[in-house]
This record gives sequence, structure tokens and C-alpha cells, in this order.
Amino acid sequence: MAKNCGFSDSLGVGSIVQYVAVLSRLGDGLQELAFVLADNAVYCGYLSAMFDYLDIPNKKYEGTIPVEKRSFCDGGDYDYEIEFCNVSFKYPETEQYVLKNISLKFQVGKRFAIVGMNGSGKTTFVKLLCRLYDPSEGVILLNGIDIRKYAYQEYLSIVAVVFQDFKLFSFSLAQNVAAGTAYDAERVAASLKQVGFGARLMQMPNGIETSLYQDFESGGIEPSGGEAQKIALARAVYKNAPFIILDEPTAALDPLAEAEIYEAFQEIVGGRTAVYISHRLSSCKFCDQILVFHEGKVVQQGTHSELVAQADGKYVELWNAQAQYYV
Ligand code: ADP
Repeated sequence: MAKNCGFSDSLGVGSIVQYVAVLSRLGDGLQELAFVLADNAVYCGYLSAMFDYLDIPNKKYEGTIPVEKRSFCDGGDYDYEIEFCNVSFKYPETEQYVLKNISLKFQVGKRFAIVGMNGSGKTTFVKLLCRLYDPSEGVILLNGIDIRKYAYQEYLSIVAVVFQDFKLFSFSLAQNVAAGTAYDAERVAASLKQVGFGARLMQMPNGIETSLYQDFESGGIEPSGGEAQKIALARAVYKNAPFIILDEPTAALDPLAEAEIYEAFQEIVGGRTAVYISHRLSSCKFCDQILVFHEGKVVQQGTHSELVAQADGKYVELWNAQAQYYV
């Protein structure tokens, strides 16, 4: 009798189930691979846009002169003076001047406030001070030398700035304060305490090692608006630069936290030159010099009492406009 070589002889039910399962897993694997390849194609598109951006040649002249080391930690005296000489500025590819014929000098160790209506050029002025843009006309001098001639990175080391739209990153608190991976733990903690973050720091499970946000660490904390602003302030304090520039430093703080910061301010700023941009005129009273900006010009400057004495001045107009809200 002929031998039965049929299908049922070579494949038992168990084997068929096993092969079907394997084929189904292979199908799943291939599907997953297709998804990964598709994601890859999309992300490579983003990445190439980023590389194109990073490859844009830097047209800014970066300068070569080293900045004289005069900060306290080097045994120096913070004796840096910045002067704006007839500076005018319009943004690239625009026709309208945003700053016009600004001439002023920042004396070392003094506190300056910049006030004015929205769009009057306050932030642009700070951007020029930080060399994010160069003046269209006129010159900015550091200790008598055009700031464009200083090595760019060295010039940046003398200004610590907190812009309104500062950013915190999904790294540790310490790395956020130090703005780098290497940091001095004691100075980080001291900077946080100085800006009123000490009590919050004590509650943190890992102290300055605590991660911000939960993008990479499930135990990361979500700072509130006020806490984020304090961390950004601590970053400026940590930098220990002779110029500290704060664009709306307390906008996200509640009145008590704001009062706490202002009380500590003399200590925070120490011998540095401080420039505040503030919408709340009441918080500028303690400054040595208030600069009133209007339509890109400095229309008034003086102390609070000098400016309120000029009844028809812009400062009084702004002051009265704000007083309504406080009544
Ligand atoms: P302030 O800080 O006093 O509110 P800004 O310095 O931000 O004023 O803005 C001054 C003027 O410059 C505004 O008219 C604003 O629209 C314009 N401006 C600000 N940034 C840019 C930019 N990147 N490009 C073109 N115009 C800008």
C-alpha cells in the first residue's frame, strides 16, 4: 500500500498554531519597522532643517580684544562703564527707526530703571546692550572702546540678562541655574537662596539635583510662573557678571514675593551695575536713575523725585495712568 505523504502527516495541529503565531509576530515586527522608518523619515526632515539653520554663516563681526578681568572674584573692582553714543537702530529689513539718537552712560555700581509704554524700544535697547544686534548708527563703548572690537564671548561674560521670555530646560535645577553641565553646587544653592527660592529648595527631594519638568525624569517638578522667574533670576545671580539686566524681573511674582525680591535686591545686586525694565513704576523708586523711553527716544532721566516734580513730563503721565489701577 502506498505510503501516505499528505499535508496532515508533515504538519501537526501544534506546528500549524506555532507557525501562524510566528508569522503573525513577524507581521507585527514588520509593521513596527515600517512605523519606525516612517518616523525616521519625518524626524530627519526636521533635523535637516535644524542643520541648515546651524550652518547659516555668522555675519556678525566677533571682535578679538579680550575684556579686562575686573570682576570681584578675580580681585578686581567691577569698574566697567558702558556708554551709548548717539545710537540709532532699525531692525534688519525694516525702514522704521526703533531707537533714535540715544546717548547715555551707565555709571558703575548704580541701579538704572528703564520705563516707557509698550513698543517704546526698551527691550531693543537691552538687545543692543547685550550685542544681540549692532547699532545701525552710532557706537556703544565699553571702557571707551567700541563693543564690536571685544571678543564676542568675552563681552557676553560681563552681562547677565533675564529676558521676559526666558527659558528653563528639562535638566536639573542646578544645571538650569548654572546654564551648563558643570556647576559649583554651593554657589547654585546660594544663588537660589538669594532670590527667595531657599524654602522651596528645602522641600525638593533631591535638592539642586531635582529635575525640572517630566520630559526625562518622572520625578521632575513643574515650577510655577513665579518659581520659574526666581530660577531665571538665580541664573543671572550665579553668572556673577558686572552688569545685571532684568527685563520685567517680577512680572510673574505675587506682590509678597515681589516685595521679598526688592528687599533683597541691594544684596543680590551688590557692587554690580543693574538695569531693570519695569512696567510697575512703583518698583523703580529705589533706582538711582530712571530713563523714560518714548517712541525710541530717552525723553526724560532722573531720580523718581526729580521726575515726579516735572508735572508735564512723560513719567508723570505714566505714573498717573498706573495710579488709577492702584486706587
Ligand atoms: P518695548 O520693550 O518698549 O515694549 P520693543 O523694544 O520690544 O519695545 O519694541 C520696539 C519696536 O520694535 C516695536 O514697534 C516692535 O514692534 C519693534 N520690534 C521689536 N522686535 C522686532 C523685530 N525682531 N523685528 C522688527 N521689529 C521689531
